[in-house]
Amino acid sequence: MKTDTIQRQIKSFKKRFGEAHLLLACHAALPLAITPDLLYCIWTNFQQDVKGRGIDIPWVAVTDLLFSGLWEEVGLEIYEMDATIREMLLNYLKDNHNFGEQRIKELSEFLLVYIQPQLESDDPDIQEFAKAQRWTAQAYLRPKSSAKGLGLALSRAYQHDRDDLIRIAAVVETLSEPLSKFKKLLIYGRGMTRFARGDLEGAKAEFDKIRRWGNHAHVAGVRLLLPKHQELTREKPKSFRVYWRTLGILSLVLVGGVTWVQVQSPPQDPSSIKVKDITTCSTRVVNGLSQQLINRLNVVRSKSLVNFENLNVDMGLAVWPYLQPPAKKALQEAIDERDIPLVVNSAYRTIAAQLVLWNHARNERCGIPIAYRPPESNHQTGLAIDIRDYQDWRPFLEKHGWQWDGLKDRVHFDYVGANTIDIRADSVLAFQQLWNLNNPTDRIEENGMFDAETELRLNNSPIDGFPKEASLWFTLFKGLMSLISGRS
Ligand SMILES: [Zn+2]
Repeated sequence: MKTDTIQRQIKSFKKRFGEAHLLLACHAALPLAITPDLLYCIWTNFQQDVKGRGIDIPWVAVTDLLFSGLWEEVGLEIYEMDATIREMLLNYLKDNHNFGEQRIKELSEFLLVYIQPQLESDDPDIQEFAKAQRWTAQAYLRPKSSAKGLGLALSRAYQHDRDDLIRIAAVVETLSEPLSKFKKLLIYGRGMTRFARGDLEGAKAEFDKIRRWGNHAHVAGVRLLLPKHQELTREKPKSFRVYWRTLGILSLVLVGGVTWVQVQSPPQDPSSIKVKDITTCSTRVVNGLSQQLINRLNVVRSKSLVNFENLNVDMGLAVWPYLQPPAKKALQEAIDERDIPLVVNSAYRTIAAQLVLWNHARNERCGIPIAYRPPESNHQTGLAIDIRDYQDWRPFLEKHGWQWDGLKDRVHFDYVGANTIDIRADSVLAFQQLWNLNNPTDRIEENGMFDAETELRLNNSPIDGFPKEASLWFTLFKGLMSLISGRS
């Protein structure tokens, strides 16, 4: 695209939406591509300039931006920006003394943290996508290591997976400004793009500039392979796919096994934030309420759920490590048999956390296309887990009563052995009791049904939990028990 066309486009964007929107667009220009979730997280984390003054970006800016035409939807919920627009927006941010280079660095550091869980994904598509974001962030923080990584990735793609060649070369091109010192890498990238597109003459011209001897070039301290002479004179290769495959990202969101980046809470009195107010994508924000719901459920029916943290498991902070007792026992047997730690990405999900997801899906937030209405998700049964390394665990888990959910939700297993109960109505009842205890003038029926009345109250519940967790009688009883058992 031509520079003056783009300048006009940015100008009209500013006229239509205002300076605050433009500032958010500049921030969101740094990642190679954005998802609604990433954009939300940028919005929540960058509410101030580098001098600590608020920049008052309204929350609607997030949706406005996605449909502003500055980004193009290149896959489901994945938006990419033209490289020239991107560069101009980043320069706008850099030239503004309230943001400058420092903000570019802060954004890069944020991006590195944000993609960390995706780098460890089982899904190669998600991993590749996260790697590209990592190169981007590193190009601004540690350009040499970014250049080295990109050079090696190009060389590998050339040898093993030509499909990736254009994609990685496009990353190099997009990052040509922060990587401007690495001229040979830029030439190598251009050559590979031409090579992959079948422009062999053009490719040869580029490669000849950096060819050292034989089929090698030295780029950013590493030795990279160049296509052989005869490869550069053969017939055209087939055309290549340019955009990311997105199924992986989608399934990642669907199974909910993501450890979302924790974002700063809005400047509000925490006790006044209700479940319905949650627009950030992490369900961790309702943890206070979730803990009360689990405690209460175990009052409604004792030992409905037991904690399985003491097994040989690794878990993210967003995981509630609760299962029904027989499911925990079976899990222990499977882990003992394989004798390595099991990485659990999701287990029990309270109806409060599920309502957050349900609200996100209804409002088309956080890239969640569909979600179960509480308490209908399997994750409300206390019999479900989402894990890493599902292929290798599958035989061990299946031997001990766990059933794999199949390709539609590859990381998900349900315990189907004996002696379990359906605790979902009880989990609703637990909430209804908790609500009535704290709202004696607005009582609802304690029927275990998630009806409209109940949904409304759960949406109006404080995310940090209610002031009263149990009746006075129960509190006294618990105090007495702990005195007897000698615990404080
Ligand atoms: Zn699951």
